[in-house]
Amino acid sequence: MASPYQRSNTPADARHSSRLGLFQRFYLVEVLLGLKLTGIRFFANMWRHTLHTIFRVKSAHGAVTIQYPDERRPYATRLRSLHRLVRREDGSPRCVACMMCETVCPAHCIYIVATEHPNPEIEKVPESFDIDLGKCVFCGYCVEACPEDAIRMDTGILEFSSYSREGMIYTKEMLLALEPAGPHGVPTSPVPIPADRRLPTTTKGMP
Ligand code: SF4
Ligand code: SF4
Repeated sequence: MASPYQRSNTPADARHSSRLGLFQRFYLVEVLLGLKLTGIRFFANMWRHTLHTIFRVKSAHGAVTIQYPDERRPYATRLRSLHRLVRREDGSPRCVACMMCETVCPAHCIYIVATEHPNPEIEKVPESFDIDLGKCVFCGYCVEACPEDAIRMDTGILEFSSYSREGMIYTKEMLLALEPAGPHGVPTSPVPIPADRRLPTTTKGMP
């Protein structure tokens, strides 16, 4: 019995070749048709690029390629990006070290050490608040679980990496320094550089 996942028009199927038209059986004709289509697209895009870059026709856009990192695709506002800790007006963390996010995190990648808050009306504050982004699965549960709206994933920052596991651990100070993304998810904060991350070295003779 044939598998339900088996495609019926695979070459192994006896009926496959009978579906091809006469010209399709001469593959050279199909190749030429493909080249014709590619040529049309190529020259149409080149013409639009010429209009855009030389004749400054702003409405003319050529190929759909996004010239990353100079250009970025607009991101949805609900996109979950690098975490940040929300600050109070005095700059201190809004977090009250209730451990809800640490408890709910399925990757066990949040590490909080709580201490007494100097303000008697606030019970606790995190002495340290680390997130190991090398383990994080970006599920957003920590944001959902937080009763204080103290942690968000709205920085728009997606480009973070490290040469070491330690470099993927983001501390309270790093998370507190981040700002929410601007329109279309464009980050407004620089990507935090962990102390142990090696910066690219310039090669002799290169700019
Ligand atoms: S996004 Fe998910 S995995 Fe990452 S820190 Fe939050 S709860 Fe943990
Ligand atoms: S759930 Fe919110 S308030 Fe509680 S420890 Fe996490 S960030 Fe802080």
